[in-house]
Amino acid sequence: MTQMVRPRGLVIAVDGPAGAGKSTAAQAMAAMLGLLYLDTGAMYRALALKALRRDVDVCDGAALAALLADTAIVLQRTDDGRSQVLLDGDEVSAQLRSPEINATVAEVARHRAVREEMVRRQRTLAVAGGVVMDGRDIGTHVLPDADLKFYLTASLDARARRRQADLAQLGYTVRFEQLREEILQRDFVDAGRPHHPLQQAADAIVIDTTSQEVSRVVEQMVARCRQRLAR
Ligand code: C5P
Repeated sequence: MTQMVRPRGLVIAVDGPAGAGKSTAAQAMAAMLGLLYLDTGAMYRALALKALRRDVDVCDGAALAALLADTAIVLQRTDDGRSQVLLDGDEVSAQLRSPEINATVAEVARHRAVREEMVRRQRTLAVAGGVVMDGRDIGTHVLPDADLKFYLTASLDARARRRQADLAQLGYTVRFEQLREEILQRDFVDAGRPHHPLQQAADAIVIDTTSQEVSRVVEQMVARCRQRLAR
């Protein structure tokens, strides 16, 4: 079979539900392999932030698509290796993790016109290779020809606990039961939407992170990438 030539190296897709540990593991893996980490959830979050700021109705797909057409979203890495998101030139990474955005983003991401434009931008970012892209529809839709696909999952309680810890670090106190409910609701919207829902690709490597340290998860992912490179 002919292999696609990727000038900058492997293209890796990482999908899974909220709180499965995708971004932590994918970022660490990207750093170890010298690949660029691209968080597609942050792109939808950035649009949600702009919509909230501009008072754009998040149920109005056409209005959101028009807003996105006039929005620059840049994913970049700082010199000390952190991922940053620039929204129209301003650094907004911390604001993207707020409870308000958590509660709105799945609605923003539900609209076909929004998704089509996001997917177009995501494919452009990956075209030369050398990327780890994290999201919900990367292995199934955005990059179906990825060299490797991972699907990370975990129990609902483990995911809610992780989200609670992440939010605490950002200074938000949110009750465990409330987070559990919000994650269930976000899973429901993400997995149930008609356009590119959260789905496990048939050829994805599934990792259940419920009772595994992140370092162990990263080890398994990196080992799979090295095997793939050695082929
Ligand atoms: O990964 P994260 O939790 O930051 O994603 C936020 C939301 O963005 C998801 O719940 C989902 O609604 C949307 N999303 C998406 N497709 C992607 C990445 C994220 O619909 N590829």
